[in-house]
Parts: sequence; C-alpha cells; structure tokens
Amino acid sequence: MTALPPGSTIGILGGGQLGRMLALAAANLGLKTHVYAPEADSPAFDVASARTIAAYEDEAALASFAADIDVATYEFENIPVATVDFLARSIPVRPGAKALACAQDRINEKSLARQLGAMTADFAGVDSLSELETRLADQIAMPCILKTRRLGYDGKGQAKIFTLEDAPQAWAAMRDQPSILEGFVNFQSEVSVIAARGTDGEFRAFDVTENEHRNHILHRSIAPARITPEAAAEAVVIAHRIADELDYVGVFAIEFFALHAAGVDVLYVNEMAPRVHNSGHWTMDACDTSQFEQHIRAIAGWPLGSTRMTAPGAEMINLIGDDIAAWDRLAAEPGAKLHHYGKKDARPGRKMGHVNRRLAARPH
Ligand code: AMP
Repeated sequence: MTALPPGSTIGILGGGQLGRMLALAAANLGLKTHVYAPEADSPAFDVASARTIAAYEDEAALASFAADIDVATYEFENIPVATVDFLARSIPVRPGAKALACAQDRINEKSLARQLGAMTADFAGVDSLSELETRLADQIAMPCILKTRRLGYDGKGQAKIFTLEDAPQAWAAMRDQPSILEGFVNFQSEVSVIAARGTDGEFRAFDVTENEHRNHILHRSIAPARITPEAAAEAVVIAHRIADELDYVGVFAIEFFALHAAGVDVLYVNEMAPRVHNSGHWTMDACDTSQFEQHIRAIAGWPLGSTRMTAPGAEMINLIGDDIAAWDRLAAEPGAKLHHYGKKDARPGRKMGHVNRRLAARPH
C-alpha cells in the first residue's frame, strides 16, 4: 500500500492516555486524529483534531466517523470485535479483527503461543464449578489462578487457588463467566517485548523491558531487561512469529514470565496486548522512535522507525492516583521527563501520568 500522506486523518477508538499519546505522535508527523470514545472527559480529546462521543455500538456515529478518517486503530483491546468489523467494511482497521479477537481471549492467546513453539503456564478452560473441581483434581496442579477468559486487566477478574476448598469462592469471583485455570508460575521477573509490524511485513522490536507490578498495576519498567541475551533474542523471535501469524499491523506487546534456573532464563508467554503498552512508555525519551510514533508509522503505511536506544538504560515510573501530586517536584528534577495525562480526578489506582529517566548505565 502507499503511505498515507501528511494531512490524512487517523481514527482512534478509545480516548485514554494511550490514545492521547498516539494523537500527539501523529501530530508530530503532520497527521490528524479523530478520537472516538464514549466518555465525554476522555484525555485524548484535548489533543485530537476531532472527537466523537458515542457508544461503540452506535452504527450511525461509527459510519460518520468512518467517513471522516483514512485508517482506524484502537488504543484498548476491549473494543467489541463487531465495532471493528463494521468499520472495516469501509476503511482499513489496523491491527485487524483477527488480532483483536485473539487478544480478547486468554485461551486463544495461550493456544496460539504454544502452537508457535512458545511455553506458557499449564492451562485449561473452565465453565462451571464442577468443571473447576475436576480440573483441580486431574489436570492443573495447585497453587493456581482462575481468571476470566475475557475483559480482564490489571489483575481484575482473578482468584488464587491453594486448596480444593478455595474452589467455590474462586468460581463465585468469576461471576459465571467462561474462565481459564492457570498453573502458578514461580517467576523471578516479568518482561515484555514491544514490537511493530508494518503493512509490508517489516518487523522491529524495542529492547526487552523488565516490569515490576504493585497491587497488580505496573509500577516500574526498566530497559534493557536483566535477562540473558539468548532469552531476550528468544522473546523477540516469539513476538515476531505471533505478529506474522496474526498478519499484524501496528505496535503490540507480549508479556512473559522469566524463570532463572542454572544460569538459563526460561520464558513463558503470559499475554498479548494488541496496542501500544504501558511497559513501552520509556521509549518516548530513550529511543530513536517512540512506541507511539512507531504505531502511527505502521498503521499509516510509513517505514518503521529505528528502535535503537539513545541511552545505556531507561526507567519509567507510573504516577498512580495521588502520585501525580509530585508533578512540580518531578518537573524540577534535571533529566526527569514528566508525562501528565491531564486527567482531573486522581482516583486511587488511576494512571495519571508517568516519569521517564534515562540511565547512565545498563540496569544490573
Ligand atoms: P494478567 O492479568 O494475566 O497480566 O495477570 C496479572 C498479574 O498476576 C501478572 O502480571 C502476574 O504478576 C500475576 N499472574 C498472572 N498469572 C500468573 C501465573 N499463571 N502465575 C504467576 N503469577 C501470575
């Protein structure tokens, strides 16, 4: 395909901070953005050329959105597949519905990873309490984790199971939704690959990132991850295979658990996000190209940018809830790059901003 020229309009479904940073990156390349989101106070609206406030099921609003844009993308994976299918009848949607459908279901995600030669935790589908009890007795060793197959994020919709007695309460927490039972992985660290695939199949990955969570929310990322070069290369190979298999266009993240044993790092795929990802925010200030610019380049059919790091190391810290009150101190810190999402209410657990720091040495 030919590249969309500057002046073209990118439609973004979802108006959170990821949409906001995508719109800023698009503007830097001379591209306009039209953000479509149901919430009137969406942070991305402040920096977009046009906005639509409507439900994802509103076909009249979707039709006029489609008429105003040259390509559509999305900034979160819980967009209904039907919305993407509707738009795809009149304009390209990147990444496509196939990637979205895969990433919306934890069983599809893990099955795909295994089919492509990657390791994952042991897993099994669970649709009832009796099925859960059978799986616990025969198939998945405890401790393990029960998760809803769909619509989970930041640890929501999850319950740990240590003994058979935990089963009823864990099942009740799923609220009768189709679920997945996963063996507990005793990992030493969590790492992610942020990578992009272009319309022509070109693939580029950023340095592997290491992620530390607090209360199930990402707290800190550092790059490059402290894993062996062999494991880092393997993570990128797995990401490449997944992207090719899904005929993916755009930026995506694959999250892994890393286990260190006898000097070797073993990686288990945990999940995939078909979008720019919180663990890639450090690229904004420590790479030739940020993940946001890379996504815009990919979906607009432009050549992908260099993913080279411009510092020996990088760190990103999320500003959650009241953490954002430190904006003035962070703004005064030499070398700290503050990113404020412009959200009004600093509710507990809400991602309000982040700060990036370039490190003088590789993390060790
Ligand atoms: P998820 O929503 O799958 O990303 O899970 C949220 C967090 O729960 C992960 O980042 C891990 O810290 C933890 N977790 C999820 N699944 C497992 C597992 N199978 N074994 C160990 N920890 C897990």
